Amino acid sequence: MSVLRFDNVSKRYSSGHEALSEVSFAVAPGEMLFVTGHSGAGKSTLLKLIHLSERPSRGAVLFGEKNLLKVRGGRVALHRRDVGVVFQDHRLLADRSVADNVALPLILRGLRRGDIGKRVRGVLDKVGLGARAKALPTQLSAGEQQRVGIARAIVGEPRLLVADEPTGNLDPTLSAEIMALFESLPERGTSVLVASHDLALVKRMKKRVLVLNQGRLVDDISPEDLAL
Ligand code: ADP
Ligand code: ADP
Repeated sequence: MSVLRFDNVSKRYSSGHEALSEVSFAVAPGEMLFVTGHSGAGKSTLLKLIHLSERPSRGAVLFGEKNLLKVRGGRVALHRRDVGVVFQDHRLLADRSVADNVALPLILRGLRRGDIGKRVRGVLDKVGLGARAKALPTQLSAGEQQRVGIARAIVGEPRLLVADEPTGNLDPTLSAEIMALFESLPERGTSVLVASHDLALVKRMKKRVLVLNQGRLVDDISPEDLAL
């Protein structure tokens, strides 16, 4: 059983531009993989179909046994609990502490204060920010800010984590650190799908790589092939 499956998915925007054309692939539980391709290849669009910021024009996106076409209205918010999202610009609340930013998804789903505190501390330790819980995002470095974004995305223990160019604003050393952090997540059973145009960085990770070119899935490279 896959966590995520794209079945001949196409996406045509109202402008008439076809951003994805007949894309099919499946992601296994606990798998980490990348989607790469030049700017405009369709990476963001692919991720948007997963967290329901966009809808396919043709084909089906399946999350577990659920066809996302049928997830509408109030169920969209429920679906998003199962999918953690990391953005390039991390989208943190500037006037809230690191801990408050990370707590937000748990507050929204009505967890008890004590439970929230425990889980936020646990996840901040996991991303190496246990000592910065009370800081404001603006007091952190770019790499630390992205760690907060990742902590917020995983605090609800989603089945799938998707990240859109999570290292786009970081230098090579910090990028490698962030990638290593993603790599540690599948141990907990969370599948991880990272979109990045940085092919060199992606190849170093030695994971499965989906390659998009003008909306078409032109390659699906296994880790074994990358090792050659
Ligand atoms: P990538 O993330 O690989 O850079 P995107 O998925 O953002 O690619 O975009 C794929 C193509 O679809 C691009 O040509 C882009 O301009 C176009 N596109 C993206 N979003 C929209 C939109 N809302 N309306 C029309 N075209 C869009
Ligand atoms: P991202 O790649 O992270 O989606 P972009 O800067 O490419 O960020 O796009 C910002 C917003 O503009 C997105 O919501 C995207 O869907 C939309 N967009 C991107 N390209 C186009 C386009 N050619 N026409 C209309 N909207 C677009």
